[in-house]
Amino acid sequence: MAKSARKTKPTPRKPAKRKPRRVKPRPPRLLGLVWVTAGALSVAVIALVAILMFGPGTRDTSVPRVATVQVPAAPAYPPAQAGVQPPPQVAAVPPQVPPQVSPSVTAPAKNWLLNATPASVAPGQPMIAIVIDDMGLDRSRSERTTGLPAPLTLAYLAYAGNLDAQTGAARAAGHELLVHVPMEPGPGADPGPHALLTSLTPEELDRRIDWNLSQFTRFVGINNHMGSKATADRPSMAAVMSKLRGRGLLFLDSRTSGATVAHAEAERQGIPALQRDVFLDHDPSPIAVRAALDQVEEIARRRGHAIAIGHPKDATIEALAEWLPDVRARGFALVPVSAVALRLVADKERARN
Ligand SMILES: [Zn+2]
Repeated sequence: MAKSARKTKPTPRKPAKRKPRRVKPRPPRLLGLVWVTAGALSVAVIALVAILMFGPGTRDTSVPRVATVQVPAAPAYPPAQAGVQPPPQVAAVPPQVPPQVSPSVTAPAKNWLLNATPASVAPGQPMIAIVIDDMGLDRSRSERTTGLPAPLTLAYLAYAGNLDAQTGAARAAGHELLVHVPMEPGPGADPGPHALLTSLTPEELDRRIDWNLSQFTRFVGINNHMGSKATADRPSMAAVMSKLRGRGLLFLDSRTSGATVAHAEAERQGIPALQRDVFLDHDPSPIAVRAALDQVEEIARRRGHAIAIGHPKDATIEALAEWLPDVRARGFALVPVSAVALRLVADKERARN
């Protein structure tokens, strides 16, 4: 290395001696120009490299974003994105059962699907179903309820009047229907006509169930009106669920009593079974209804779905009119109860396999 270093030294010195003579007159300006150009070039290069490495250029956004998106993709509802997401919505609810199939050929177990309102749910998105009970009696509040953003699930009392028109309008507005079947309450309350009482003979019980199921059409199932005594009575609930199974309908337990066996009996008989999580208007003050809606959101976030039951009361209608329009923007799927039933059925089948 030392030798080669010595050998190279002499050669550069020779031209160094020749050059200065010729170049000397010009160099000051030329050298200055060279230095300025070189300086400018290096600044430009450094700036370019800096922009490429740290700048907000395309590179920066394209590469790391892929990594960032992959991480939070799994959580159920990224708040900002979920709200603005009409396109990414995927039908978690399978398309409704082919309507061409004739009712006699359709397994009765699927009849509830024929009347289900379509729902769009992204995979893993928390679902909220809002059920309004006692529909049909108070016409003006029932109409105001029907005018709320769809889909709600509206449970009509079979002894209310003009049901074809009322339920037809509800369906046309995009809501799903339940029959709200009166069942025997505790002492002192009146469930109304054609109620299912524990004292009835099996024949009369059957007749009343049939009557309640024949006052209007296109419902997906039933839920109980009152019923704290009847829903705690296993034989009565066995008769009800057997009828629903034969007709291919779902059951929603309103849970008017902690002693209810209705949901358990529905599950035992293998029909789609749901239960209420929150009553929206036990206390029908606007503040209480808003607090109940917060609770519904909390349950849906934690468990993936929540079912709330309210009534056509002013405070409930007003609170829902405020709450419904941006429920999707908060990351939830507003669904009819059939969509919750579909997800639960799918979960069960997955667990079985
Ligand atoms: Zn009711």
